Amino acid sequence: MYTILIENNLFIMNLSHNLAQICEPSSLYVVATPIGNLADISIRALSILEKADVICAEDTRVTQHLLNAYGIKVKHLVSLREQNEVEMSNKVCQWLSEGKIITQVSDAGTPGICDPGSRLVKIVREAGYPIYSVPGACALISALSIAGINTDKFTFIGFLPSKKGEKSSIFDKISKTSEVVVCYETPHRILSTLDEAIEKIPNRKLFLIREITKTFETVLIGTASELKALLLDDTNQQRGEMVIIFDHFENIDKVLPVEVQVLADELVELLPIKKIIALLSNIAEFNKKELYAYLLDKKSSQD
Ligand code: SAM
Repeated sequence: MYTILIENNLFIMNLSHNLAQICEPSSLYVVATPIGNLADISIRALSILEKADVICAEDTRVTQHLLNAYGIKVKHLVSLREQNEVEMSNKVCQWLSEGKIITQVSDAGTPGICDPGSRLVKIVREAGYPIYSVPGACALISALSIAGINTDKFTFIGFLPSKKGEKSSIFDKISKTSEVVVCYETPHRILSTLDEAIEKIPNRKLFLIREITKTFETVLIGTASELKALLLDDTNQQRGEMVIIFDHFENIDKVLPVEVQVLADELVELLPIKKIIALLSNIAEFNKKELYAYLLDKKSSQD
């Protein structure tokens, strides 16, 4: 029986009926937890967390907070994080061999998605025990669901690398794809990421989706330079948890690579258009018609 208080309404749920599946012994349940709003957890997840013999949590304090909110008395709460995942996975196999019900949660969202879990699942599967998903919140899926774009196909790249060179080469790849790309980002890197986007994908529409399910949930939409201006204008927008979506880009073939544009700008006063195109096509790939139109435009604005 669970008692939940939502906006001063008391909900009492009796989970003893078959809404909440009976847990099988010697099984691992990978359970998604809320990404902000504590009410975003399934009835089945609560039931399984209550029945578990062992809950493997990333940070036990974070999970304890969730369990307290639902009055769940945990039998055995242990920490399974990136640093001890393999060692703990072997312990989990031992507990499974004793017939125990094990659950794994991360601090927020779906385990294994930029969070510990995948190595645990691999080791438990190789040891021959069943693994069940208890789905729920996931920041990247939540962000996509409120972007209002075609999500038939997208690439999720996790967190962008912190090193400038590595980040820059990721942006080179993004600049060459027309597909939707999604990544996670942190407040202290968001401005440098936008700078990279301004340089490499200046015309792409971005969605910066912050604090999903929390008080200051916000969706900012614009080019990288428009988003940067918004973030500098209101520094609160640089805070919190965030997902960036790089929208689908139809005109990818029509965009001149930045390096071609820079060289073309240098050469436009010195050489005839045809000569510039011939010269640059030796060193880069681009749409010649686009460069022709670009140079024509430049020349006529000089006249
Ligand atoms: N496993 C999680 C999931 O299913 O989404 C992701 C964990 S990853 C360590 C944490 C990152 O997810 C954050 O830095 C942020 O980029 C994103 N994230 C998590 N919660 C979020 C939220 N409420 N709003 C926006 N982004 C969020």
